[in-house]
Order: sequence, then C-alpha cells, then structure tokens
Amino acid sequence: MPDIRRVLVIGGGVGGLTAAAFFARRGVETVLIERRPAFDIPGIGLGQPANALRIYDKLGVLDEILATGFSYDRMFILDAQRRLIVDHKFLMGDERVPPFCALSRLELHEILLGAAQRAGADIRLGVTADAFHDDGDRVDVAFSNGMRDAFDLVAGFDGIRSTTRLHLVGTAFAPRYSGYGAWRVQAARPDEVRRMEFMQGVGCKTGAMPLSNNVMYLFHIRPEAPDANFDGQDRASLFRERLKQFGGFVADIAASLNSESDIVYSPIEPMLLPWPWFRGRVAIGGDAAHVVAPHLTQGAAMAAEDAYVLVRETLGGEGPIEDRLMRYSRLRYPRCAFVYSFSGQWLHDEQSVRTPHDMEAARGELMQNGSARIGASDRVLDERV
Ligand SMILES: Cc1cc2nc3c(=O)[nH]c(=O)nc-3n(C[C@H](O)[C@H](O)[C@H](O)COP(=O)(O)OP(=O)(O)OC[C@H]3O[C@@H](n4cnc5c(N)ncnc54)[C@H](O)[C@@H]3O)c2cc1C
Repeated sequence: MPDIRRVLVIGGGVGGLTAAAFFARRGVETVLIERRPAFDIPGIGLGQPANALRIYDKLGVLDEILATGFSYDRMFILDAQRRLIVDHKFLMGDERVPPFCALSRLELHEILLGAAQRAGADIRLGVTADAFHDDGDRVDVAFSNGMRDAFDLVAGFDGIRSTTRLHLVGTAFAPRYSGYGAWRVQAARPDEVRRMEFMQGVGCKTGAMPLSNNVMYLFHIRPEAPDANFDGQDRASLFRERLKQFGGFVADIAASLNSESDIVYSPIEPMLLPWPWFRGRVAIGGDAAHVVAPHLTQGAAMAAEDAYVLVRETLGGEGPIEDRLMRYSRLRYPRCAFVYSFSGQWLHDEQSVRTPHDMEAARGELMQNGSARIGASDRVLDERV
C-alpha cells in the first residue's frame, strides 16, 4: 500500500502547478491551495530553457508551450548601441526540445493549470495554510477559511516569501537584497528581436526576450535603493530616464512608455537554503528554497525540476519518507547551487561595469570568454535530472 495517498501543494506558481500535475497523474489525491483569488498574475515573460521544456514534455504540455511561445537557439550580448560583442549558440536541447522557448508568464501558468486540472488536482483559490501539526504519520493543516484537513505530505511551493519555509527553518535563512533591481515591460516585438539579447551599458544592463510573434519583453537591471518600489511614482518617466543610454529599438520602446504601460519593478533578492528542504512530512521547492538572479532564466526551470524530482523521489523511492525527502534535497541542492552562483556572478560582473574604461575591458573579456562561459553552463544544465 503506498504511504503517500493525499498531498497538499501550497502555491499555484510554476513549481506548485507542476508538482500538483505530477502528483495527480500518479493517482495521488492532490489539493493545491493558492493565496490569490484568481490566476491573474502580471503577463511578463519567462524564458524556458531546454531543461524546463523536458519537464513540461513529461507532463504532456510541450507542444502547447511551443505553439504558444517563441523558440530560439542563440543569445547576443551587445553594447548599448547594439553593436555585437558575443553571438552564443546555446548548447542545450535535442531533436525533441529546442534550446529555449519563451512565453508570457500568464500563458505558461494557464497551460500548467490545465495539466493539473486534467490530472484531477483539486485547485482552491484564495486560501492559505495557517498552521501545520505533523504527528509523524500525517500532517494536520488548518486553513485560512476555517477548514482543517490531514495529508500524508505537504509540498510548499509558495515562492520567495514562503511561509512554509518559516515552518521549516524560521527566519534563519531569508532572501536578502542584492543592491540591484529589475525593471520590466512588455512591448511589440520588432522583427529584428528573434533571440535573447543582453545589452551591456555603463552602470546597468538592458535586455530583450521575444515571447511570441507579436510580443517581446524588455528588462533592465541596475542598482536601486534597498527600499525602492516606485509605487505611486511616474514609473514611465523613471524607466525612460534609466534607458537613455540605449539606442535602437530600446530607444523606441522608451519613447513609447506612458502612464498606461504595465511596468513591473522587482528587487533581486537571492537566497539558497543550505539545509534539508523538509522537516517531517513538510517539504519545500522552487523560490521557497532558492531564489536566483534572473541571468540564466532558470528560476522557474529549477522550480519545475524540483517539482518533478520531489514527486519521483517521494512516490518511487525506497525507505522511510524522511530518507526520500533527504534524497530529494541532496539531488536538487547542487544543481540549484550551480545556478545560484553562476547567475549571481554574472549579475555582479555586469554591474561592475561603472565607467567607459570598464566597458572596453568588459567588451574584450566577453569577446574572449563570453560564449565559452555560457556554454559551460549550458552543458551542466542540459544534463538530465
Ligand atoms: C526579473 C525576473 C525575471 C525572471 N525571469 C525568469 C525567466 O526568464 N525564466 C525563469 O525560469 N525564471 C525567471 N525568473 C524567476 C521566476 O519568476 C521564479 O523563479 C519562479 O516564478 C518561481 O516559481 P515558484 O513556483 O517557486 O514561485 P512563484 O512563481 O512565486 O509562485 C508562488 C505562488 O505561491 C502563492 N503563495 C504565496 N504564499 C502562499 C501561501 N501562504 N499560501 C498559498 N499560496 C501562496 C503565490 O501567490 C504564488 O502564486 C525571473 C525572476 C525575476 C525577478
């Protein structure tokens, strides 16, 4: 008789929806709770590399994702005037999955939600878990709507401000502000934007990612004050000011920004939980366990991989549940640590370009090593989990 028959997944982001879909496909009675009253997350994009696409393939939604998004096999690093520095062909993917497919976050969530619902997961919106009582055999959960229920396993994929992580480790480990923030906006895709582009500026970086035939997303990373959120301020003029050294289509997008533009600002707050990612029968994954700088576009990909490995190890593994959850933690930690350190280093390197002299040094270094460096990361992340 299997000992995991009822699972609670907390959080309806990429990680939680993927976990719920995999649990439910394996015949486990699966309840997913999501704090938001609706799946109305802002429509900024997500680049999904081959390793994420392989997980979605196992869920049977690869074709839908590829039909919705924009696939590409290269990235360019350019300067602020869009002069090419690095042309990197990704060393990821195979005959089945392309190296990259990017799509709007909302569309990816809808596809994963569909997979979870078709598999039979019970999705409950506007609900959180207030308290857990783990007696060793079951976890008794008190919900915010006054209900109580018992589960064989709780999987917390409740994001960067995870309350499930608080249950595991208290405030011992928390995301800390890196000193840098990310500005993002969707825009019409100019025909020339057909791959990911990083434009290295002096004191900041701007990038572009195609999301569909019509749409791309523009992002911009720079130092910002620790408490900045820009709420109630004129984000269009602040963003335009920040983009002023960039030419080409970036200058056109900057000129078109206005008070209607859906500009999103997020501080970059990395964290890697150096601890088993469970306590008793409560486990965590995704941003609840690790938050990475966005440079490798691997945050959601790591959440999807965590979900797949958690389900595989807990349902298929040998030994008591603690051993299986320890194996999950051990399998996932090194890979997430690689992404954490590689993308964090990239963030610091690019933001260390503070003067025109730095820019010329960075240009030379990138021309010499940029593609080989990204290729080394491609090879690691292309390995099967
Ligand atoms: C600027 C930027 C760019 C990025 N670009 C990329 C990219 O191109 N590719 C990529 O792969 N990743 C990217 N990421 C990272 C990616 O967004 C995250 O790593 C990913 O969303 C994590 O997924 P998750 O499911 O763990 O958490 P989330 O997506 O944060 O989902 C957590 C969910 O849990 C819900 N929740 C929270 N608390 C509770 C609670 N107590 N009870 C119930 N529900 C709760 C939340 O409402 C949310 O829906 C980027 C991040 C940033 C900041």
